[in-house]
Order: sequence, then C-alpha cells, then structure tokens
Amino acid sequence: MDAPNPLREALEGGRFCYVVELVASRLTREARLLEVASQLARVPGVVAGSITSYAGGAMGHDPIRVGTAARARGLTPNIHLTCVNRDVAAAQRALEDLNALGIENVFALTGDYPKSSAQPPEKPVFDLDSVQLVRMIAAMRERGLPFWIAVAVSPFKYTEADCAYQYLKLEKKFAAGADYAVTQLGYDAHKFRELRSYLDERGIRKPVLGSVYVLGAKAAEKMSKGEPPGCWVAPELLEKIREEAQAPDKGAAARLERAARMVAIVRGLGYAGAYLGGDHQADHIRWIIKRSEAIANRWEEFAEELNYAPQNGFYLYTASKGGAGKRGAIPAILDALGKAFPVNRETALRRALARVFGWVDRHPGAARGLERLEFALKRPLFGCEACGNCVLGHMEYVCPQTCPKHLRNGPCGGTLQGRCEVVDQPCIWVAVYERAVDTARIEDLKTFIPPPDRKLTGTSSWINYFLGRDNRPGSEHPLVTIRGLPSASRTVGPAAAGVESKPAAAPHQAGR
Ligand code: SF4
Repeated sequence: MDAPNPLREALEGGRFCYVVELVASRLTREARLLEVASQLARVPGVVAGSITSYAGGAMGHDPIRVGTAARARGLTPNIHLTCVNRDVAAAQRALEDLNALGIENVFALTGDYPKSSAQPPEKPVFDLDSVQLVRMIAAMRERGLPFWIAVAVSPFKYTEADCAYQYLKLEKKFAAGADYAVTQLGYDAHKFRELRSYLDERGIRKPVLGSVYVLGAKAAEKMSKGEPPGCWVAPELLEKIREEAQAPDKGAAARLERAARMVAIVRGLGYAGAYLGGDHQADHIRWIIKRSEAIANRWEEFAEELNYAPQNGFYLYTASKGGAGKRGAIPAILDALGKAFPVNRETALRRALARVFGWVDRHPGAARGLERLEFALKRPLFGCEACGNCVLGHMEYVCPQTCPKHLRNGPCGGTLQGRCEVVDQPCIWVAVYERAVDTARIEDLKTFIPPPDRKLTGTSSWINYFLGRDNRPGSEHPLVTIRGLPSASRTVGPAAAGVESKPAAAPHQAGR
C-alpha cells in the first residue's frame, strides 16, 4: 500500500489545504529548518513543506536531504527540482533518488539564473526547461514511479505577451502531465481571479494553490526592484508596508492580517489551497489559518482592496488584445518558401533532398562545409548557435538559443514588463507571441517542443532534419533509458543518449 501523501490526498479530495515554503538557503541553518519542519507538522491544515532549490539563483542546502529529514520529523516534503546546472542524466538521477527515498511530491521549475554566472564564460547549463522536465517526470511516473507534480504559473504579468504566454505555458505543463499549479506571489486580486477564469473557461479542472507571501519591509524593498526575478511589489504597497513597519511590532500584526485576508480571497475564488511563503513560524501559520477561516465570508470585500498593480497594466478580460503587427519580412519569406517547396511531409522534393543530404552526410568534409554555410546564413539572421536541432519553424523564427536559459516551450516566470531577467533585452518570447498573434497561430504555441539532442551540437540541422536525426516536434527521439523498467515504455525524453542509470533501490517503498 502506498504511504500517505497528505498533499495529494487533500488536492484529490478537494479539501482546502496549506503548503508552507521552507527556503533552504545557505543563510538558514539546516538544524533550524528541521526544527521548523517538526513544528509545522503539528499545524492542522498544513499538508506539506515545500523545500526550495536555488532560490533567487543562489546555491542552498540540498533540498532532497532537507526534505528527507523534514519527513522524518513528520512533515511531508514537496521538493523543488530545477533545471539549473542539471543535465538530463542528473535530473533523472535526482528523480530516482526521490523515488528511492519514497518522496512523491516534486515541484518542477526552470529555476532562477545563477547569480554567480550571469556573465559568460561561466554559462550555466539549462539542458531542459520546466515543460520538458514535467514530461520527463510524467514518463517516469507511467513506468511506476509515483510522482505528484507541481508547476508554477504567474498571473502577475502586466503586458499582453508576458501574461498570455504564462497561461499558454501552464496549459502545456498540464498537457505534459502536471497535477497541480502554484502561483507566483503577487498582491492583485484581479489577477488571481483572471487565472481562475482562464482555467474555468477552458474546462481545466486541475487544482491551483494561490501564493500568499507574508510580506515584511525588507522583502518588499527588494521586490519593489523586481528581485528576486518574477517577484514584484507596487510602489503603493511598498509605501503602506513602510508605514506599517513604524508600529511597535514592526508591522508584524499588519502583515499577518494581510496574509489571512489573502488566504480568504484565494479560497473564495476557488483555489485549492494556499502556498504560504515569507514566514514559516508555526504559531504565525496557525494564526493565519485560523484568522482566514474566521473572516472567510468577507473575501469579496478584501478582494476589492487587494489591487496593487502597475499603471495601465494588462488584464486578459478587459484589455483590447492582438494586432501587434511586428512580424517582419524574413518570417513571411520563409513561410512562403515553405509553402512553395513543401518538405515537411513525404513529397518527391523531400525524398530527393534526403538523398542529397544523405550523400553529404557520408562525406565528412562536405558535411562540415554545409554546417559552416548554414551557420554563416543563420547566425546574422537569427543568432544561431548551431544546436543541430532547429526549431525556428515552431517558434516563429526566433532562435531558442538566444534565450539565456535556452527555453523552448515559453518564457520563465522571471520577466518584468516584457524584459528578460538575465540580460538587458526584451524577452525573446515577446517576439514569438506577437508574430503568432499576427498570423493567428496562437494555438500552435501550445505544441510541445522536446529538448535538443546535445550530441548534434555543431552539426548541420539541415542534414539532421532530412535524415530524421534531430529532436523536434514530429521527430522526438527517446534518449534516456531507464534500466529495470518495462521495455514498452523505457524511454524518457531527450538528450544525453546512452545514459543508463542504476536501478533505484527503494527502501522506503518496500513496505508500501
Ligand atoms: S534553433 Fe538551433 S539550428 Fe536553429 S537557429 Fe537556433 S541554434 Fe541555430
């Protein structure tokens, strides 16, 4: 019999629940975290502790070790698994470790860009994005590893492209196998409502936890500058919190009251639970829960008051949308060529080209020359990095390698007003979205794009395409094998061919 998982049981049973975030940063002593975990385990309604990894882009304690110790103290862990500096093989190993330890709850995240390596040459590895990671975990689950998968979404985006893409990407995450979502933090009830309406309108019944961050003055100051990436506090809220901080209790009562009201709001809006951050002290959490229950029937009144947003921010159901008109000549020419010379289906032209590229491939000098030619053409046009698995046609002719995190399935949560969290440039997904709007191809953006096969880096994507070697929609190759699992479904996602992991010992599962 499976070990109990209060988080899964609450969400499946439709019981409003609480998950408390434990930031496993280097600044917090591990012993202190575990003391907190044992106290939280005794708070009614708290179903899990969510153990962060790489929070704010800095290396912290190992979340798997902390989560295992937290569970020993009675708190069910939800382990954050990011794509930062973790290739496919490492992600697979981490998941096998979790399974061996009997931990089900995984929070699949792209992760913050490491602070220490924001500049080349120390570029971090982002082998997968969060959608690809979800797909990988779900594939392992199909083979009997019982994971329960959380994903993130931020409704608190105030430009059309940022906002719409967050919701598109959430749909992709659910389609890839995510079980539930957790919102980014924000202080705008209209945005909490917008996300619920988006999901309800599409009949998406997956549970969502609303983020309730207990906001103190120090965190508010940082967030007002957009730090950590994806977190933002409006000037009006910052001002209010500064005033509250003047009180003898330094604003403690006011911030707990705000948190309780936010819990009441998300509950009233139909969220499945609250994801509490910013304060993990058990007596505070207990107070927030009790107080939110006492004031639950006033949630609409509180929602009216919680409206901290930028001037002229974008709202999906009230703003006029579309009409970006920024596609440019090159995408139009490439589309026209694609129509005139169809090679993406079985045609005589495709067969002829496959023979030509097959010949080139058998002659290393010619293959190298073709790769150089392709690079010389695509580098100035698209910023090509010769990944060998070209998906320009699936991304409105925007190269994914120009995203600092190399994401292929949509933006991370770190954008601020359409700008990248890492480098001072517009987020590449703004152009993808605006071009798709221009050609009425928004639905195409929901197509899952697998990770590139890294073995093909530096080879011609044209050859790889015609010989069917690359990894892209319509040509997805299983590249990771899990030994000891049923052969019909042994393969997991992308990259790192030849990786064979050790069979996972499962000591904690033995008696389940
Ligand atoms: S997707 Fe790969 S092959 Fe295509 S332009 Fe970008 S780096 Fe080059």
